[in-house]
Amino acid sequence: MTPNKVTVVGGGLAGTEAAWYLANKGFQVTLFEMRPGKTSPAHTGGDLAELVCSNSLKSDNLDTGAGLLKAELKLRGSLLMDIAEKRRVPAGAALAVDRTLFAADATARISEHPDIVIKRGEVTDLPTERPAILACGPLASESISDTLMNVTKGALYFIDAISPVISAESIDMTRGWFAGRYGKGGDDYLNLPMSREQFDLFYDALVSADLINPHHFENIKAFERCMPVEVMAARGKKTLLFGPMRPVGLSDPKTGGLPYAVVQLRFENKEGAAYNIVGFQTKMTVSAQKTTLRMIPGLENAEFLRYGAVHRNSYVNAPECLNADMSLKGEPGIYLAGQITGVEGYLESMASGIITAMQTEAAVKCLPPVVFHPETAFGALQKHTQGEFGAEYTPGNFHFGMLPPLQQKTHKKSDRKTAYSERALRHYELH
Ligand SMILES: Cc1cc2nc3c(=O)[nH]c(=O)nc-3n(C[C@H](O)[C@H](O)[C@H](O)COP(=O)(O)OP(=O)(O)OC[C@H]3O[C@@H](n4cnc5c(N)ncnc54)[C@H](O)[C@@H]3O)c2cc1C
Repeated sequence: MTPNKVTVVGGGLAGTEAAWYLANKGFQVTLFEMRPGKTSPAHTGGDLAELVCSNSLKSDNLDTGAGLLKAELKLRGSLLMDIAEKRRVPAGAALAVDRTLFAADATARISEHPDIVIKRGEVTDLPTERPAILACGPLASESISDTLMNVTKGALYFIDAISPVISAESIDMTRGWFAGRYGKGGDDYLNLPMSREQFDLFYDALVSADLINPHHFENIKAFERCMPVEVMAARGKKTLLFGPMRPVGLSDPKTGGLPYAVVQLRFENKEGAAYNIVGFQTKMTVSAQKTTLRMIPGLENAEFLRYGAVHRNSYVNAPECLNADMSLKGEPGIYLAGQITGVEGYLESMASGIITAMQTEAAVKCLPPVVFHPETAFGALQKHTQGEFGAEYTPGNFHFGMLPPLQQKTHKKSDRKTAYSERALRHYELH
């Protein structure tokens, strides 16, 4: 029997995992990597699976989303988790690695695999040898980005403007009310009103908050839609009062009048376990986000499931241009994996590499697309790329707010989070 062949473009976190998975399933894999001949603004070397920023793969504890995601990656045979364990450096409860040895090991393991050939060079067009997985990352080269822009008819974005996501249980809902502006569009928004005094204090904190220094490669012109909230604030108080904090059409049922300012929160998922703060994409540091945003009435005890951000990040509108099996609509045999699909983070990109590899394998075997259980982190990532969370598709990390609520009540927060993980991992015991 002729072995199946597959092309993988991009030897980053997702591409490495996809190549490894498929080679171990008997595929002959050709992995294209443009580095070191051509590099990205963030990569520094020629090794595969380079961690471009932090060397941390976050907490190992099962009361964290990262802990569950790592446990699932290991159960799915992740190459990079195996290497990470071997290249661990002391970091308390977190799994941090020696990034140089991590990438060197990944390169060695992939190079030594008898069914993987690494080709160094940039791929500028959709591969003709299919199936092919594009895992070119958030800093995909210009030519392949142009190609994707054309085939997705413009559904490739270059900037990622993320509003913070807050767990529902940490919000004091009694401080606000649910309503759409002018009563339109259902009661989809939680409106948290502010008096003039509260707004003035909040405004002062916002314009003096510490910001993350922009890297040179992130110095791109922000679209109005992606304008960080503190940049809007710096243009003057009125900009916020006519922008994301405008009160018009939102009369407060407690007073019957219009509040001075309003912060609107929108469901992040159908279950209502998490909310995002509408229009509050930000470059504030994590600690500045905690102190400033907790000044909003009702958010004093906010638990952040995801912090806000604005940075360079190429990703496609996956719900619009990908099929359920991660293949590109209108381009049979072309699959996407990693951060370019709109997942966000090292672990999520690794998981996405495995998910797409499994879908490619299923398609080659004429099987239906793989459906991951929604109570697992893999299932949540799959639902994310299918547009199940949030009205607008923006890149997302995995967090427990993406999982269906637990049946049993657990009062201690860490116990509840561990219960989410234990429930997810039970699905692996069953199969
Ligand atoms: C600056 C920056 C910092 C980040 N920091 C963190 C962090 O600290 N923690 C975190 O969890 N996540 C972080 N991320 C997000 C994300 O987790 C990483 O970008 C992750 O590496 C994405 O994995 P990937 O496999 O999708 O892409 P990558 O790991 O970037 O892999 C893509 C690969 O494709 C190659 N390539 C690109 N175009 C072509 C082409 N045309 N032909 C051939 N090869 C090509 C690239 O050289 C690269 O090796 C960061 C992202 C950026 C941009």
